[in-house]
Amino acid sequence: MSKMNIALRFEGEKLFAEAEISLDKKLSEFSFILNSGLEISGVSCDDNSAEPTIEAVYEPLFCAEVKKYSVKCGSGFGRVKICYSGKISGWHNIITNDIIELNRYGVWLPCEMSCEAQSFLTVSGCEDYFLVKGEFDGSLWHYSAGEWDMNIILYRKSVMKAVVGKNISIYFADDSLTEAAEFSKNIFDDVLDYYTKELFRREYCGGHTEMACLYPALTSGGAYKRYGLIVCITPGTDEKEAVTVNAHEMAHTWCNGADAGSWEDWLNETTAEWSMLLYCLDRNKTEIFDKMIAEHTEKYPELPPIKTADGSRPEGVHTKGTVVFYELYKAFGAETIKSVIRLFVDLDVKTTSNLLDKMKALGLNEAAEMLEKNLS
Ligand SMILES: [Zn+2]
Repeated sequence: MSKMNIALRFEGEKLFAEAEISLDKKLSEFSFILNSGLEISGVSCDDNSAEPTIEAVYEPLFCAEVKKYSVKCGSGFGRVKICYSGKISGWHNIITNDIIELNRYGVWLPCEMSCEAQSFLTVSGCEDYFLVKGEFDGSLWHYSAGEWDMNIILYRKSVMKAVVGKNISIYFADDSLTEAAEFSKNIFDDVLDYYTKELFRREYCGGHTEMACLYPALTSGGAYKRYGLIVCITPGTDEKEAVTVNAHEMAHTWCNGADAGSWEDWLNETTAEWSMLLYCLDRNKTEIFDKMIAEHTEKYPELPPIKTADGSRPEGVHTKGTVVFYELYKAFGAETIKSVIRLFVDLDVKTTSNLLDKMKALGLNEAAEMLEKNLS
């Protein structure tokens, strides 16, 4: 596989990066996308400078606006270097003096390149910062991951706080969140207990989880989950928030694998949300259960059907699917929902039609029919 080494540094609200891609085979043309707000100051192929051409400007699903560039060098080349800088934009992307967060939704690094590449990052000038999931060698921070896992989260050490438990470490930058972080750590452990012993009945394969809370750099915007990482605004300032952020995001350890860029994403989101709701029922947190159902039910009528004619991902699959499962729950009970979630987790190819087939094979014909009807 090709390799990309990125040297990154920050100045005020701007990032400065040099990305050097070593190709595993020679190419005569190379293309990539990058956040539209970042300016390219130079591109070279091997050691010859080259002029990038803008092929398109668009917004990939969930992402900030990007420019697609291509670079042609005449003869084949094995190394491309791209220097760029500027302010970042996109969901959950921010550069402040105390907290920095960059992720794939901001397309802050060259993505969708002509070749797949393993990425290696160094951050300079951040001796006074802590990089979540990074390693410090005395002068540089090091980080490596695949394209969608290039989540760069830095806290200035003088403001960073941490609550460290056996299963989770929670990072935050505001004293007012200390109690909430302690509470959230205990909820995480309890959810883990319910998922591994009762709902999924298998070991947790998510490793030690690092939870990065972005408040006050960000004050709204929800959460996302990657391997061993939960990125959120706060650890939950009340019990409902602590339960939803921990239980929904942790459930994605098992509830994933359906195509997130299509309508089939309802499977990932609905099974994760209902794992959380089943935890609430099991632990007698019925008030949280009722509130969550009421919030989803209220939004339901304005949302389009889950299944689209062209296969695209409609808005609101998370909410729509949760209400569709609520209908199943009312008709067939919690055990049926647990069975459906376990069937989804065990699917080899995670599609709705495969799930419906498995439900019918298990004798859940009526539930399968109701589900199918409510998707359109
Ligand atoms: Zn989710």
